[in-house]
Amino acid sequence: MDIVTVPRTVDDLGRPDFVRSAQPAWAKDPELPVNVRRVTLRPGETTAPHNHHDVEVWVVLDGRGEVTSDGRTVQVAAGDAVRLPPLGVHTLHNPAADRPLSFLTFWWEDLAALEAEHDRRSERTAEEGRPVLLLPSFPTPNGELHLGHLAGPFLNADLLRRGLAARGTPVGLLLGTVGHQSQVAAAAQDQGLSFYELAERNTDAIQEALAAAGVAWDVFVRPSSPRYPEIALEVFERLRADGTVTAKAVQSNYCVPCDSWLFEAFVAGACPHCGSYDTAGIECEACALPFADHELLEPSCRNCGTPAEQRELTRYYLPLEPLRERLTGYLRSVSMSARLRSYVDRVLAAPLPDLPVSTVAADGILLPADPSGATAGQRMYSAFELAARYLTAVDDLAGQQGMAGWEEYAQAVRPRTVLFFGFDNAFLRAVVFPAVLGAFTDRLELADTMVCNEFYLLDGQKFSTGRKHAIWGRDAFRPETRDQLRLYLAATSPDIRRRDFSLAQYERFVREELAGQWEGWLASVDDRLRKSFDGRAPEAGSWNREAEQFYGRIRAFASRLAEALRPERFSARAAAREVRDFVAEARRFTEVCEDVLAVQPVSATARTCMALELMAVRALAEAAGPLLPELAARLRGKLGAPAGGTPASWVAPGTAVDLTGPYFVTDALVRSAD
Ligand SMILES: [Zn+2]
Ligand SMILES: [Zn+2]
Repeated sequence: MDIVTVPRTVDDLGRPDFVRSAQPAWAKDPELPVNVRRVTLRPGETTAPHNHHDVEVWVVLDGRGEVTSDGRTVQVAAGDAVRLPPLGVHTLHNPAADRPLSFLTFWWEDLAALEAEHDRRSERTAEEGRPVLLLPSFPTPNGELHLGHLAGPFLNADLLRRGLAARGTPVGLLLGTVGHQSQVAAAAQDQGLSFYELAERNTDAIQEALAAAGVAWDVFVRPSSPRYPEIALEVFERLRADGTVTAKAVQSNYCVPCDSWLFEAFVAGACPHCGSYDTAGIECEACALPFADHELLEPSCRNCGTPAEQRELTRYYLPLEPLRERLTGYLRSVSMSARLRSYVDRVLAAPLPDLPVSTVAADGILLPADPSGATAGQRMYSAFELAARYLTAVDDLAGQQGMAGWEEYAQAVRPRTVLFFGFDNAFLRAVVFPAVLGAFTDRLELADTMVCNEFYLLDGQKFSTGRKHAIWGRDAFRPETRDQLRLYLAATSPDIRRRDFSLAQYERFVREELAGQWEGWLASVDDRLRKSFDGRAPEAGSWNREAEQFYGRIRAFASRLAEALRPERFSARAAAREVRDFVAEARRFTEVCEDVLAVQPVSATARTCMALELMAVRALAEAAGPLLPELAARLRGKLGAPAGGTPASWVAPGTAVDLTGPYFVTDALVRSAD
């Protein structure tokens, strides 16, 4: 007889023979079809969140616990058993102050259960019709948007917005410009303007560039939005009242000749982690890791170049370390790329820094001073403002829908949120933003998906507003070039690695692929239709082998493209690839159509092939709208197809169709910056 005994009291945990996790002697048999362990959690302890492909069952032996599985938490007590599905992220917490929690865990591989769960998870996301909020990083209004900006969060969010809307999922794209960033203050200083003059002026230019690129938003929070400071102060006051935000004295950079504190854009220096001089604020543009002001290497004054002096300054801070457990559990449940996951794991492996909440600046939201008066006159730090800007945007959206504010909206609509940001912003978006928002409220669910992009390069170098190494969105996107440039940016999207925009390659893409192959395909469909069917869509008759295959290809195209435009599977590159591959396939099918039409009079099989060619054009019009909105609308009009139809649909027999182009522009594609 083998017995598994469990420690019953906290004192038992102190015994020399106590082990937290042990395999019962009888479970050591290698032939046993399951793995078994007894695990005991100390008061307050939590198992590390993890997932695997095995099925796992927990039987609670003693104590009480909280099981969290895929973000859902339930209370369990001795005698309860929990089955954890394959792939689900799970954790067990012992909330007691004075009692151990013991459980037996069994796990085994069951590939049938894995397959079933994999299918369920794929469907779950397609289903839900739950409204989705899309939150790209708000651009900094210190300049206008170039292609490097647009190819990242904004085009991605727009593609997803259009993709979700096409499937009938309610979706809201939240935009605005960021709050009070020192980069704007520094640019305003250079141009002799006030902070708000410059911020508002650049916000106009940013909106123009977004509109030119076809990026539509549902809400736009401008720098001077009146509701914004109210919400920001509410967040600050609540977190200060509950002790999450505290004042503390720290070493900060100071310029003696200029008699001023040096923060963010006003201080130059090197990253303490990687040595890069591309530093701004509290994170490095190169390695994206955070650092404290006093950790910056070789700090010097941006204005006069004098090496900075360290002086003590009392500021408000939000220490992130106490939030570690919650952040870790949350981040484990978020859908993100392996690249971002590695970054998050790296951040979590080190002590989490204290987030500055206040700063010394001329512009921004004035904060109430701490009791000592040491923080008097300080303003809210831009990184802390992110949560408030998001809440302001949701508040605006709520107002549009006749609701009182973000809280009512959150409760009534229960939206999901998807974040879009550049890798250089990963610390602020993936760690700071959920930390502040989660500490402030649990009424609004944190983002469940993060779409992170890398830098987009111009001829091998970073886009740079300062060095004028850029192509401005307002110059490049014109109504007649919008679609082709969107498709090219999506096809070369820097989703995982840096990728390059090259004008020569873009021109070749438009000339050879779009104006050449795509238009050639449409012209040849048009030609056959006119010659053999008097320009009217035929009704399908009998099918040959190639027709059956091509029909399958049309259906696969539509569903694979839709798959790439779902939050958890989102990939601009995959979407662009599907569209381009499909047109290439449709061009090959023209040969089949030519062959069957070689016999006169027109056969029933030829009618099917012609009808399938038109179905392919219609599928392109229906499915490719997110990438190519103008082309899709034009083709739909030409085919007499109502918006929102099923991609694999016939063009109604008898419809007069004229596919004459042109659809793309090959000259003067882009005016570059000067
Ligand atoms: Zn670095
Ligand atoms: Zn100075």
